[in-house]
Parts: sequence; C-alpha cells; structure tokens
Amino acid sequence: MSLPAVIDGHNDTLLRVRRHGGSLVERSEAGHLDVPRAREAGLAAGFFAVFVPSDRIDWAAIGEPPYEFPLAPPVDTDHAALEAAAMADLLVAAEGPLHLVRTAEEVERCIAGGPFGAILHLEGAEPIEPDLSNLDGWYERGLRSIGLVWSRQNAFASGAPGRYPGSADAGRGLTRAGRALVDACERLGIVVDVSHLNTRGVRGVLRRARGPVVATHSNAHAVCPSSRNLTDAELRAIAATGGVVGICFSVAMLRPDGRFDTRAPIADVVRHVDHIAEQAGIDHVALGSDFDGAVIPDEIGDVTGLPRVLEALRAAGYGDDDLRKVAHGNWLRVLREVWRG
Ligand code: ZN
Repeated sequence: MSLPAVIDGHNDTLLRVRRHGGSLVERSEAGHLDVPRAREAGLAAGFFAVFVPSDRIDWAAIGEPPYEFPLAPPVDTDHAALEAAAMADLLVAAEGPLHLVRTAEEVERCIAGGPFGAILHLEGAEPIEPDLSNLDGWYERGLRSIGLVWSRQNAFASGAPGRYPGSADAGRGLTRAGRALVDACERLGIVVDVSHLNTRGVRGVLRRARGPVVATHSNAHAVCPSSRNLTDAELRAIAATGGVVGICFSVAMLRPDGRFDTRAPIADVVRHVDHIAEQAGIDHVALGSDFDGAVIPDEIGDVTGLPRVLEALRAAGYGDDDLRKVAHGNWLRVLREVWRG
C-alpha cells in the first residue's frame, strides 16, 4: 500500500551545506538530506531552518544523562543577519529542483507531486532587528516561519537549558520585543514556533497568540524527560490553538533514557506519536525530523528512512486517515490557516 507524502517540520541542511559545502539538489551520501533523496523518500516539502550557531559551544562536553548544561552564548544581530542571508540565498540558488514555497496552495502542489518545496524558517530570531524594522524584508524574501529562540537568549525570549532529566523552567519569558514579534508574525502570516523556548516563553507565546502555535521539532516530556520536550499541559495547550507538534528524531529527545545512542528503535518514535495523540489528539501530531541537525536513530539513517517511520505507525494501528494527518495533513491545515491561502 502506498504511503502518504510527507511535510517535515525541521531540518538543518542549510547549515550543513553552509559549513561543509556540497549541494542541496544533487544526490550524495553526505548528511541526512538532499532533494533527490527527499523525493525518493516521499518527502514533498520541509521547513529549512536558517540557524546561526553560537561560537564556543563545546559539544563534546555534553555527556550522557544525567546532564545539565547552560544556555549557549548569544550571537549579535549584525553577524546573524549576514549569515542568515547567506543561508537563505542557498535556497534561492537551488530554485528549480527545489521551490521556495510562499503559499499553502504551493505546498498542496508539492504534495500532489509537483516540485520539492522548501519553507524558509528562522531557528532563532537574531537576524530580526529588535524593532522589527527588517521583518517585512524577510517576509518578502520568503520567510514563513520563526522559532523565537535557539537554546540561548536573544532580544525576544530565552531558550531552554539542556537538561536530562529536567524541565525548561529557567530564565525570563518573552520580552516586550518578543511579544511584538508574535503579534507581527500573526499579522503578516508567519508561523510561530515554540521549540527551544523555555517554559515562560512557551507560556508567553500561548497566551499571546490568537492563531495556531506550533512546535516544529519537540517530543513528549512524559516519554523522554529532556528539557527540550513538552509537558502534557503544553501539548494540550498547543492543540487548543489548533497547532501541531513535529516529532523530532533526535535520539536524546526520543529515548526514554535520554542517551545519545543511535540504537534507539523506530518504536521510540511511535511511543511519542502515541502519547501526543493521546494527550493532544491525532490532529495535532506531525513530523519535525531535525535531519542534519541531530543524532538520529540508525533505523532511520537519513531522509530515506521516512517510509520506515510511516510503516511503523501503520503497523502500530494507525489507519490511512491518521497516517495522512501525521505525514502532511496536520501541517497543511496549520499552513493554510496561518498563511491564509
Ligand atoms: Zn533545533
């Protein structure tokens, strides 16, 4: 039986290509994703994160659980704006085999077998001036989704510290600029993403937003108590806005033991889907792989493992309607509503 096309809520492929070179549109074995492999896997469209890393992150210092590491150092707006523009330009340069989508109608065409769709997403709003003076320019460039923060502080909000086991309840909530950014996103039709926010930030966005709120790449804290995952109350609150939670394939956020161990079975993905469906409803479960941004299960391997994830969900009892919702239907509903067509 054929599998539904997929919309994926998060990848860091632009950062991989920016750092290590290579091509978005030519097939290779590098990293997790390129357009040919994505198409082969039935991925119709994905959120491409523009993420400007902090200097001086000692990734090797992040050990096995239990762990607690602080927020990453901030990045300044000028540097972030230049780097972000360079990464967004990678998408523009790939236009042809890949299409930078700006409307839900264009995403529908991707699902129907049209071009491969890229959704331009900011992971951390540092490239946006705190007075929002360049937000319109980014919208014109094709920006359609913003995660207010990565795991650090900026002018808008504060990120979740890395903890296992632990919560994201540390630090301040949205700033005045953060609240203004949420309002401006809703006015323009830009998705607001709470992944990487701390507890007060998530609460602040949920209180402020009138439309759907999403978590592009987060899992269930009740299954894996990582500070990057969402509590049951947060899952239900996101569902109440009409939003979705994209299941992230990062092993440290999937595995109940939180270990950086790639032997995590696809069954761990199913556990998070089951839990979020139970707490929030199947209409609010989606995918948000974090391809090229996370250590993922060997059983998935790269984007070509997506069909195995869908097959596992089918084997776990999800019927065609539910499978279609998780694969692309729920994301599409949110994009239609937020982008208004
Ligand atoms: Zn991330």
